[in-house]
This record gives sequence, C-alpha cells and structure tokens, in this order.
Amino acid sequence: MTPGSNKTYKAILLDLDGTLLNIDLDKFIHAYINKLASRFDHYLTREEFIQHLFGATTEMVENTDPALNNEAVFYKEFCLRTGLKHLEIKPVIDDFYSNDFPELSCWGKKHPPAQEVVEKAKNKGINLVLATNPIFPATAVLQRLSWSGIAQNSFKLITTMENMHYCKPNREYYLEIAEKIGFLPGDCLMAGNDTHEDLSAAEAGMETFLVEDFILQRGDEIPACNYRGKMNDLLEFINKL
Ligand SMILES: [Mg+2]
Repeated sequence: MTPGSNKTYKAILLDLDGTLLNIDLDKFIHAYINKLASRFDHYLTREEFIQHLFGATTEMVENTDPALNNEAVFYKEFCLRTGLKHLEIKPVIDDFYSNDFPELSCWGKKHPPAQEVVEKAKNKGINLVLATNPIFPATAVLQRLSWSGIAQNSFKLITTMENMHYCKPNREYYLEIAEKIGFLPGDCLMAGNDTHEDLSAAEAGMETFLVEDFILQRGDEIPACNYRGKMNDLLEFINKL
C-alpha cells in the first residue's frame, strides 16, 4: 500500500542524481574526472589532479564555516594544494563545463515517474527545491537537470556550490535550504535515493521519503525514514496530500 500522510508540506526537496535523473553514477563520475583531469595535463599529473580534486572536495563537504560558500572552500583548498591560482584555472574550468560536460549527457536519462512527481507537486501548489549535493557549479547542475527533462523553473531553489555554504549530509545544508525558502524544516519533506546523504535531512527536523528506484545504500543499516517506496509511490503520496 502506498504510504500516506495527513501533513501539509510547504515544500518538497528533491534530490537529482538517482532520484529525478536516471544516471549511471559510476560511469558518469569516471568519465567526468577523466575529462576534467585532461584539462589540467599542463599543470599536474593525472594522479596529482585526482588526489587534489578529491582532497578539495572532501574539505568542501566537511567545512561548515558560514562565511565561506562551497565554491570558495573548494578553490581555496584546491589552490592551496596545487599552487595554482583561481584566476588562472577559472577559464579552463568554465570552458570544460561549456564544451566537455555536455558530452556526459550519454550517462543520464529521463525517469518518467519523476517528471510526473514534479508536475503533480506543482499542480498542488507545493514549493519544490532541487536539493542536489551542492558540490557542482550551477552550470553542471542545470545541465544534469536538463537531461532529466524537468524544467528549471519548476523549482523555487536549486542548490549549487555558489549559493550554498554546506553540503550533504550536514544538517546545516538542510537548515540553510529552509532558511532560504522561508519555511520551517518541520514543514518540509526531503525525498531522495541516498540512505546517508538524503535521510540526514531528519537531523534538521525534516520528514524524509526514501525513493528506492535507484536506491544508494551506504553501510549495512538504513537510517530511519518517515516513508519509503518507489517514485510511483511518491507520486501517489503527493496525490493524496
Ligand atoms: Mg542521489
């Protein structure tokens, strides 16, 4: 039976990769890193690039300094590690996202029930947030969203490395979203496929819906969630709100 709620949500937060977008994450990440690394062949060996990309990404995910957005944390750490200047590499990275990143669309596919979920929630007047882990620049988020066939203007907020100061699974990420959209965390539902990064919204006081179509289970145990089911169950769930 489809789970139901008698609660009224002011906003529903939806994850992108493996939730709204059917993506082969392993192949996508592999191709992404290879393509990006090749842009840095003049500066660093592949091994160095990958080591520093991961190191700076980890710092960005773990850093919870409210004074620095995720982009600032990433470049501060990446430049510190590599000795490169942000101004020097910015055009390289911008060009990568304009010309190489679109080629990665072969790893992303529409997930029709997800498109229906977005339409249903919009028709019900529920505010939507694209709550994708903000470790990518806006262009990379918007391109991946376009692969899902879902319109950008469906969302009141789309989280990116430029507009957020925290990452999943930190509770501060979810609190910052609630603050930005002007609702209490208790009036929000987070729906996503990742048992760790998405269900941690509960620590911020949000309700959670584990979407199991492309479930990403980290660790042996699945943390507590309020609801779980397939995307079609989420569709029914929203229909009953
Ligand atoms: Mg996901």
